[in-house]
Amino acid sequence: MDNVLYLVFENAQCFQPETLYSTVTVSKFFKDITYSTGWKKVYFQKENYDTSTCSKCHLNKYKITSFGICTKCINTYQFITATDAKKEWKLNDDDLEELNVYEKWHNTYRKTIRLFLRKDVKLYAIIKYGGPASYLNFIRKSHGISKSKQKRIDSLTVVAKDIDKHSTKFQLCCSDYLANGSGGIKSVKQKLSRWDDFEKIMLKFTDEDIELLKTYNELSFLQTGFVNGFVVNIEEEIQHKITIIKNKIQRKNNLITKLNACGLQFRHDSKICRQYLDGARDDLDTIIEIMQEMNFFFSQTKYQSILNRHIQQMKDDIRIEYGWLPQDEYQDIFEYGLQTTILQAKKEAIKSWSISKLPSYMLKYR
Ligand SMILES: [Zn+2]
Repeated sequence: MDNVLYLVFENAQCFQPETLYSTVTVSKFFKDITYSTGWKKVYFQKENYDTSTCSKCHLNKYKITSFGICTKCINTYQFITATDAKKEWKLNDDDLEELNVYEKWHNTYRKTIRLFLRKDVKLYAIIKYGGPASYLNFIRKSHGISKSKQKRIDSLTVVAKDIDKHSTKFQLCCSDYLANGSGGIKSVKQKLSRWDDFEKIMLKFTDEDIELLKTYNELSFLQTGFVNGFVVNIEEEIQHKITIIKNKIQRKNNLITKLNACGLQFRHDSKICRQYLDGARDDLDTIIEIMQEMNFFFSQTKYQSILNRHIQQMKDDIRIEYGWLPQDEYQDIFEYGLQTTILQAKKEAIKSWSISKLPSYMLKYR
C-alpha cells in the first residue's frame, strides 16, 4: 500500500513514533488526507546502511550501493532520477544531498545518473513542506499559474491594465476569463464596453434613486445582468426597479401608519405583512384586522399553548385513524385539517371571555 503511514513507519528512525499522527489516512496518495492528531516538526535523517554485505542476498558478489544492497538486488527497488525528483517533488540539489544516492552509468545518455529511492524522496518532500497537507498546498500553488493562465494574464494586461483587481468592475468583466478563459478575451472587451454603457446610463438617474437601488441590493444585480448580456433594455429595467422599490416604501408607510393607529407595531416576521409589501396582496384592512386578532390572541389569551395541544391531538388522531403513512401523504392530511384545528384553538382561547369585553374584531370567534 502506497501511503504516508506506511512510509512513516518504514522509516521509523526519522521520527519519534509517538510524536507522529496516531493515524494518518492517505488514500490514492495525497488525496483525502485526514489527521487524528497534529503534525509535529520532524527531520529527515539519512539512513546509514551497512555497506559491507548486501542485505538482500547477503553476498559481496556485486558492488554494494549506499543503500546496503548490491547492484544486482537493487533493481527490485523503485528509483526516481534527480531530474524527476526535482520536477515532481519540487526538491533542489541541496535537498537531494540529504538523501542516499545510487549513481549509475547510463548507456544511452553516456553519463552517470543519480537515482534516489522514490519513498525517500516522498518522505523528504512531505517533511520539507510540513506534512502531507502543506505539501499538497505547495504543489497546488506552484502549479497555480499554468502557461495558459499566464497567457490570459498577459491578454488582460493589454485590455484591462488600469483596472484594480479587487474592484467590482474587474470581478464582473475579467475574473471568469482569468479563471478559466471562459468567453475569450473578446467577451472581456464586450463586458468592459457594457460596463461603460452602464455607467453612462446611470448618469440619467438621480443620486437618490441610485441610493435606493443600492439599499435594496438591486444595483449590483442589474449591473451583473447587463454586463453579462442577460438584460438588454437596462434603462427601462432600472426605471422599473425604482418604481417597485418606491411602491414598496409607500406600502410600508401605509402599513405602519395603519398598524400604529391600532396600537400595533410592524413585524418583519409576519407573512401577511411581507405579502402586502411585495404586492402579493392588497387587502390592507383585512391584514390590519388579522394583525389585531393575532396580537389579541397572543397577548391576552393562552392561544399558543391551546393551539399546540390541538395540533398534538390532531397528529394523534391521524395516527390512530390512518396508522403510519408515508411522509407526503401524512403531510397532505395534516395540512387539510390544520385550518379547522386553528379555528378550534381560537374559539377555545376566548371561550371564557364575556362578549361585552371582547373587541369587535374578535366576535367572529364566538
Ligand atoms: Zn544482493
